Amino acid sequence: MTSEQHVAPGVRRILLPLPLALRNVNVYLVEGDRGWSIVDSGMHTPEAEAALRAGLRDLGIALADLRTAFITHLHPDHLGMAGTLRDAGAELLMHGPEIARAREVWAADHRLIDRTYELFERHGMPRDVDEGMRAAWAAMNERVDPFEPIHPVANGEVLDLGGRALTVIWTPGHTDHHAVLFEEARGTLIAGDHVLPRITSNVGVYPDGRPDPLGDFLGALENMKTLGVTRVLPAHGEPFDDCAGRVDEIVAHHAQRLDATLEAAAGTPRTAYAICRVLFPMLRSPHEERFALAETLAHLVYLERRGKAHQSDGRPITWSVV
Ligand SMILES: [Zn+2]
Repeated sequence: MTSEQHVAPGVRRILLPLPLALRNVNVYLVEGDRGWSIVDSGMHTPEAEAALRAGLRDLGIALADLRTAFITHLHPDHLGMAGTLRDAGAELLMHGPEIARAREVWAADHRLIDRTYELFERHGMPRDVDEGMRAAWAAMNERVDPFEPIHPVANGEVLDLGGRALTVIWTPGHTDHHAVLFEEARGTLIAGDHVLPRITSNVGVYPDGRPDPLGDFLGALENMKTLGVTRVLPAHGEPFDDCAGRVDEIVAHHAQRLDATLEAAAGTPRTAYAICRVLFPMLRSPHEERFALAETLAHLVYLERRGKAHQSDGRPITWSVV
C-alpha cells in the first residue's frame, strides 16, 4: 500500500475500477481501536472484486475483518458489492429513505426504470434512444448484489465506526437521500458523490423523486461550508482540503448552466430533450443520454419553481421561458 493511499488520519483509500466513462470509484477504510469499517463498496464486476480483495490484502485486512459498511447512496458503483461485504460479516448501513428508494430502483420488475422510460418519452426522448436507456439501466441490475438486510440510519445520527464517531448528514441532490459521513473530531468529510473535485455530480429528475433536486443539491452544498471540513474524501477523483472553495465552484457552475438552459429554451417552445441536445451536443452512451436529460430537467424544474420557465402539459411536454 503506497503512502498516498493513507488519505486522512486513520483512513485508507482503495481505488476500484468501473466499466464506465468514469473509470474509478474510491472506497474508504476507516481504522478504529475496535476494528475496520468501509464506506461504499464499488460496482460488482470481477475486476472490482479482485481489486477490493487485493487492496485489503495490501492493508493487512481480511474481508471478514470489516465490521461495518456504510453506503452513501444507491448507485451501482457505491451499493454494488455491499451484499458481498455483508456475506463476509459486515453490518450494512444506509440512510433509511435511500434504502426505500434503492428497493424501487433495483426492483426485479424494473418498475422505476419503466416509469422513467415513460417520463422521458413525454419529454421528447426519441423512442430508440429511450429504449437503449432502459436496456442499459436494467442490465446494471446484474452488477448490484442483493443488498438486504441493510440497517437504516437517520440524518444526524452519530455512528460508532470501531470507536470513531462519524455523523450521518443527509445531502440530497445527486440522489434524493444521499448521505455523507463527517468526523467532527478530525474535520474529515467522506463525501460520496456530493462534493467531487474536477467533475460535478449528476443531479436529475426521476419519477416519484423530490420536486426540486437541484435546489436540494445547492442547499446541501452550502451546508457543507458550515461544518468545519478540513479534508474531503470524494468517491471519484483525488482527496482535497478546500471544501468551501470547491463548493463555490460547483455552485457557480450550476448558475452558468441555468443561464445556458434559459438561452437554449428561448424562442419557440420545445421539449426538454431538444433543450438537452443543445446543452449536451456530445452523448456517447445510453447512460449519458439518461444523465443528460435528467440533468436538463433538474435545471428546467429549478427555473420553473422560481418563475423563469414554464412547461405545457401536452404530448410531448414542451418548455418555454417566462
Ligand atoms: Zn452516484
